[in-house]
Amino acid sequence: TASLGQSDLNQKIRVCVRKRPLNRKELERGEKDISPTAGIRSININEPKMKVDLTKYIEQHSFTFDDVFDIDDSNDQIYQRTAQPLVKYVFNGGKATCFAYGQTGSGKTYTMLDPQHGLYVLAARDVFNLLCQPQYQHLSAYIGFYEIYQGQLYDLLNARKKLFAREDGKQNVVIAGLKEYVIKNVDDLMKVFEYGSQCRSTGSTGANSDSSRSHAILQILLKPTKNKKIITGKLSFIDLAGSERGADRGETDVKTRMEGAEINKSLLALKECIRALDLDKRHTPFRQSKLTQVLKDSFVGHSRTCMIATISPNQGNSEHTLNTLRYADRVK
Ligand code: ADP
Ligand code: MG
Repeated sequence: TASLGQSDLNQKIRVCVRKRPLNRKELERGEKDISPTAGIRSININEPKMKVDLTKYIEQHSFTFDDVFDIDDSNDQIYQRTAQPLVKYVFNGGKATCFAYGQTGSGKTYTMLDPQHGLYVLAARDVFNLLCQPQYQHLSAYIGFYEIYQGQLYDLLNARKKLFAREDGKQNVVIAGLKEYVIKNVDDLMKVFEYGSQCRSTGSTGANSDSSRSHAILQILLKPTKNKKIITGKLSFIDLAGSERGADRGETDVKTRMEGAEINKSLLALKECIRALDLDKRHTPFRQSKLTQVLKDSFVGHSRTCMIATISPNQGNSEHTLNTLRYADRVK
């Protein structure tokens, strides 16, 4: 939209918010949009205070981010202001990460990994175009796709094989045995992605993580065609576990509680690591979770990070929405 386009797209860290439209069920229930006034870079939330006396029945919260995307902004528009600058950056040898953070149902997968319009497809299209240019003809693109569930890595392109991460002594994180497919065009990518997505939801090994309880990581790697051991650029798309899952600790079910504790730990570690990036702090708590361990090489050195916090617009989710906005606010 014409209103977009003011903030610096080349910052080391960008934090954006995307609000999805009310869905049919929410409309049928007559739910109100709690954030009717999303501005270019700020968003106001009218939190309904049902139990408080009538004079103070709405509390307004205001937040400012690098960008705020409203219900009518398309993935294409969002792409231009989030992942597209990262593609250019990885072609200059950098490592970049784009996250979707938010409650289950708020639009993380729609934004990041939608098979047709997700940011990863839009990015891949640009990657293939750039690979055709003379200065990049020596490079090939590879895709890796894995999941972190309960602190364990599973290869989604290899029947959920368990994977282990280590460091190679040159500040690179190596995920030993991760299956990487060379991809030459969008069709290749979609086929590989579809195969991996099926592994994600069905979990044939009995780990059967539902996608709200795991972090999915899709990586596009640039390597010299003649030396697959060298990584010249890495772009990661991360569809995080549902943020509300981090609060599952009150659950009586032991499994759910343990999953919740693990998710909570990783989302807290992620926030701390991104904050440390901005402050150039010496000590960064990478080791506190598997998620931050595998992302370590994308945080140190030449790196860029973009977080997209996705929110639901309806009243019934206002508490989760506020939690998401507070998390995103503290990342910067
Ligand atoms: P999450 O991955 O955060 O759990 P999803 O991406 O699966 O959420 O989105 C939940 C539902 O809402 C899906 O049916 C999706 O198609 C729809 N949806 C999400 N974001 C948007 C949007 N910006 N515009 C239209 N529909 C959306
Ligand atoms: Mg999802």
